[in-house]
Amino acid sequence: MNRDGSLMSYTQLDSRSDPLAFTLDALSARGGLVESQRDTAMAVLPTAVARELNLPEECLLTAASEGAGTINCGLGTALLDRLIEEARSAFHVARVSLDVTAPRPTRARSLAEAFAVRNGVTQFLEVLPGTSEYLFVAANWIAQADDSFEGIVQACVESTTGSQPDIGFESLVASAVSGAQAARDRSNPQSFASQESNVTGQRLAALLESRASKAAAPVRAGVIRRHAREYRQITEYYAAMCAEVKKPRRKLDEQTLAARLSAVLSDRDSKLRDLDQRFRLRIALTPIALVAVTVPSVTARLQVRRRQAERVLSLRLPAEAQNLDALTCEGCLGFTHRPAVCDARLHLLCESCIPEAKGRFTCPACT
Ligand SMILES: [Zn+2]
Ligand SMILES: [Zn+2]
Repeated sequence: MNRDGSLMSYTQLDSRSDPLAFTLDALSARGGLVESQRDTAMAVLPTAVARELNLPEECLLTAASEGAGTINCGLGTALLDRLIEEARSAFHVARVSLDVTAPRPTRARSLAEAFAVRNGVTQFLEVLPGTSEYLFVAANWIAQADDSFEGIVQACVESTTGSQPDIGFESLVASAVSGAQAARDRSNPQSFASQESNVTGQRLAALLESRASKAAAPVRAGVIRRHAREYRQITEYYAAMCAEVKKPRRKLDEQTLAARLSAVLSDRDSKLRDLDQRFRLRIALTPIALVAVTVPSVTARLQVRRRQAERVLSLRLPAEAQNLDALTCEGCLGFTHRPAVCDARLHLLCESCIPEAKGRFTCPACT
């Protein structure tokens, strides 16, 4: 595995042997002017930063023991802990290349020749060995309702077309990435989505959401069960109360009785509304790592024809994958290994968009 770029390793932050240098990096990233002199450094901070970090605007920092007029930023100090914590919560982007054996062009060719377009004719053109870049993202999900649960999900797509590699390749990338040194970058997921092709950002987001939703399925089941139980308890409690109101010890006139019943029912309804609110499951996703991974790959080009139209498809086989990447459905942004194509522009359409690729159909990508 090679790491390209010279960004500082994020994973090394907390074990970094030089807390002073780390502190200075962090302060200059916030707009501070720093000048180091051996074991100490002078820092001049913007007023807001100084206030936020509870530091004087001009200070002399040291990681060694605190002397007169110096501020300690060594291991275990509140200042260093705070800066590390903030660096951790920033979004991290790294670039790595995987040094693995390239896929065999003959393998890519035979997979491409077996590739079928459901309502078109395909013809193999050529294979092009090279490299491809995949984006791998890991995100933390938090599902909150009456209780809070969390976990981590990951997703991987090719960075220009959004095609999805097989699960074997994804695990290869996941294990390589977890062993890799991820670099630090202050960009956030929004800026990432706008930098990369729009479709790739959307695909990654959609994949993460569906995986998080799947991962949270047992949580959802538990929430539904507890919601139902409390709902039953509340309705039973208020039903008993209504029965009691209807059998008063002293005879009540009808109006008073109706007023009392309506008060009980409105109390019950408000409790039930609170319950709905408390048991509404919200799932939040926070990307924790984004890695652009370059790997050897083979691209097979295939011509597709349907009626008068034709189009060339690029099918990708990355290193160590068993299968060609699933293509992006141009109708719904889902994935497909068996696309149908529309008549007008040969848009690739998945099995959910076009379950039966017979005759003419309305293309969701053309409309
Ligand atoms: Zn689709
Ligand atoms: Zn179309």
